[in-house]
Amino acid sequence: MVNYPQFEDNANRVLEEIARACHSCGRDPDEVKLLAVTKSHPPEAVDFAIRFGFEAIGENRVQEAADKKPLVQKRIRWELIGHLQSNKAKLAVSLFDRIQSVDRVKLLNALNRYAGEQQKELPVLLQVNTGEDPRKFGSTSTEAADLLQAALNCPHILVQGLMTIAPLDEDKSVAAIAFERLRKLRDELSASFGIPLPELSMGMSGDMAEAIRAGSTCVRVGTALYGSRQ
Ligand SMILES: *Cc1c(COP(=O)(O)O)cnc(C)c1O
Repeated sequence: MVNYPQFEDNANRVLEEIARACHSCGRDPDEVKLLAVTKSHPPEAVDFAIRFGFEAIGENRVQEAADKKPLVQKRIRWELIGHLQSNKAKLAVSLFDRIQSVDRVKLLNALNRYAGEQQKELPVLLQVNTGEDPRKFGSTSTEAADLLQAALNCPHILVQGLMTIAPLDEDKSVAAIAFERLRKLRDELSASFGIPLPELSMGMSGDMAEAIRAGSTCVRVGTALYGSRQ
């Protein structure tokens, strides 16, 4: 992993890239949050994010976050961005401030039950596989309305928007299409359910600009901040 001065340089560079992408499509850079993805890195990666002033970090495994979190002294928002098995739902509810990877009704019901038991309202994003990548999790675009309806029926769940992971492809237009589809889906669901779904979590180190152009409000960045993972 990088040291703190390198992290600081990287963070400033990524923020500039976000600002440039925003300006090129007439968006306000304040509309796009940067989620520092600390997965596979030691707890110091979270400390770096806190010291730099980021509001949130992303982890993709429940157990890894459970091991890391007690070693981090200061407060930051922890978000789950990786696939969640229902048998880890209880632990996930206790660890995370938001879960971005909610992709099926059964999981939603488990999260709702544990959030109720722990007396909290759990913010979530619904993960949709708009890139139709068989290697990625996420509900299909067609199932998304049912998933949203189920989420709205859960008193302890607060749906804030949608999330997607674009297929890995040299051709950036593949990711761009997946992002456009997520935004359109959000617009349709928002109109038909009559609710705002403001958050669109899309874009990573390699496809941030495409995601921002398509309307991303949260880019999840690991490699460009911390260097490559082992
Ligand atoms: C690892 C991961 C990221 C960050 O990927 P980088 O290419 O390292 O920026 C973003 N989103 C999800 C869901 C991830 O698992």
